Amino acid sequence: MFRRSIYKSPVELSSMVTAGEVTAAALAEARSMIVPGATPLDLDAAAERVIRAAGGRPNFQLVPGYRHTLCVSVDDDVVHGIPGERPFRPGDIVSVDGGAEVDGWNGDSAFTVVLPDPERPEVVASRTELSRVTEQALWLGIATLARARHLNEVGAAMEEYLESEGDPSTGSGHRYGVLTDYVGHGIGRSMHEEPPVFNYRVDRRGPAVKPGLVVAIEPMIVGGSIDTFTRDDEWTVTTSDGSDAAHWEHSVAVHADGIWVLTAPDGGAAGLAPFGVRPSPIARSSRP
Ligand code: MG
Ligand code: MG
Repeated sequence: MFRRSIYKSPVELSSMVTAGEVTAAALAEARSMIVPGATPLDLDAAAERVIRAAGGRPNFQLVPGYRHTLCVSVDDDVVHGIPGERPFRPGDIVSVDGGAEVDGWNGDSAFTVVLPDPERPEVVASRTELSRVTEQALWLGIATLARARHLNEVGAAMEEYLESEGDPSTGSGHRYGVLTDYVGHGIGRSMHEEPPVFNYRVDRRGPAVKPGLVVAIEPMIVGGSIDTFTRDDEWTVTTSDGSDAAHWEHSVAVHADGIWVLTAPDGGAAGLAPFGVRPSPIARSSRP
């Protein structure tokens, strides 16, 4: 069987820009709707409308057996939550994951938000901190990719960062856990491609980071044990000890002029600025 290179050509890279933009727009729409009383199914329908209006297809619907546009994972659900009708409640920590396929190319991205709850400020504070740390791990991972020689430097940097956010009272990195059952991935013609993108240190260097590499980096961080189980719906991944979970993800392209975060409206400029990394736009191809 022909194995496609993990490195895309300049024309292929430019073909992925629109899928990233449509993914970002769909998730922004979903994000704007997360208020108490709204339901995950409301978000799902809105995200699908945005993707189809742009001429794309929700790529999660291309996964065998999955019929929705988004995964919406609440509280101790980490990833792969099926959108349902239970309304969001004050204090919920909500992770939303989605992607668009446009012209045969894919985007994939996720974010977490915490709903305000004046009656449970300590719960909101700890969940907000969990999401902040997870998002910070993502941007650190992307910044690391911008300078890395080999892909697995990304996971090593994220793990080191999470250890630094460990429990000061014990001096150890036990406050947060990084899921090891699920990892990031290459992305292109398919949503899930080689190579795997680890969120933690591994003993292999991974492929060379060079122009044409496009990966979805997606740390999944929990407030307790990293043990998970899959609910009876056969999709939703949940923490075994009931601890909270957060999930942030972006699709990122390495190209001749640098990196570009395909699923961030600004290419990642704001998220990368604290790391001294400036993303470079991908030149659009003028296809015949
Ligand atoms: Mg995703
Ligand atoms: Mg992904």
